[in-house]
Amino acid sequence: MKDPQFTSPFSAFFTKQLIDWYNPDDRPMPWKGEKDPYKIWISEVILQQTRVEQGWDYYLRFIHTFPTIQDLASAQIDAVLSLWQGLGYYSRARNLHKGAIQIIEEYNGILPPSYPELLKIKSIGPYTAAAIASFVFDLPYSVLDGNVVRVLSRFFGIFTPFQSNEGKHLFQSAAQTVLDRQQPALYNQAIMDFGATVCTPAQPDCNHCPLQKHCHAYNADEVRNLPVRLPKSIRKVRYFHYIVFRSGPQCLIFQRKGKDIYHGLYQFYLIEADSLLSSVEITHRLPQTQKPCPSPGKAIVLKPHILTHQRIIPAFFIMEVSAFPDIPDAITARPDQLSQYAFPQFVKTFIEKYLA
Ligand code: SF4
Repeated sequence: MKDPQFTSPFSAFFTKQLIDWYNPDDRPMPWKGEKDPYKIWISEVILQQTRVEQGWDYYLRFIHTFPTIQDLASAQIDAVLSLWQGLGYYSRARNLHKGAIQIIEEYNGILPPSYPELLKIKSIGPYTAAAIASFVFDLPYSVLDGNVVRVLSRFFGIFTPFQSNEGKHLFQSAAQTVLDRQQPALYNQAIMDFGATVCTPAQPDCNHCPLQKHCHAYNADEVRNLPVRLPKSIRKVRYFHYIVFRSGPQCLIFQRKGKDIYHGLYQFYLIEADSLLSSVEITHRLPQTQKPCPSPGKAIVLKPHILTHQRIIPAFFIMEVSAFPDIPDAITARPDQLSQYAFPQFVKTFIEKYLA
């Protein structure tokens, strides 16, 4: 299929109005105006799937702990994951770490000032590469985050869902067409800020909008219908039953292995099922070891944890034992030692509430 090409008689109007509207001093953020490519890289990866308000403190902590690529590359992955706790999508942290090692090994520890080269680095996709290339190196690449997609779809009346292959090409073409090539960093920040503060998802300020005159969505009364989204895929429901083996002040934890979610993070002994299991059913699924386990108590069920394609229902069973069962790869830890390990957020919530 040939890539759809974007054209509009109002492209120049759109770009000029955005540049005129923008004030770089509005909406301060710790990474705004930053020219260190490492810091822009970190901020962009944190902001994927994360709101600015939530990502702000994580960014500051991350840069404080790992101020340079060298610091990140030489860190233990557990320390990186630990700092990432609560942000979710842990593959981002793992890939950041791999990317830092790759930059040290293949690029002498320096992020390359080239879009195609940036794309070769682990964790850097088209959006992050465009952000680093434009914000740091002033190269003519347009960013395309949720804010930008919303503004483009409404102003130009693009009804193709961004999530489709055709949509990705069309929005990319539109974004490159309206990019101010003389000042890509300024323009990219302008359209992102505009989407975040004026052309917002629920209550866009159309009455004071400098784009209103030629805005398709406003003039056709389609603001609420744009951007068009693909229907959400059905989420798989998974029940995570955690057995918290406790003996005195200590408990057993395990590192997650395999290619599943939360890979590399820690948890309690896990029994997964397609439905919530009773204490009796749990008893039948406990590890068969030389030291028999007592019956588990009542489940502590926390609220569901929603991921893009999955819904996790976490249930915890605290099991007091006189001696720990012999389970391969078990790690014994006191409650005060648990903070050294990275857990999925709902496990951390449980620890803080019931084990601290
Ligand atoms: S007129 Fe409304 S919908 Fe159109 S760009 Fe402005 S804020 Fe967005």
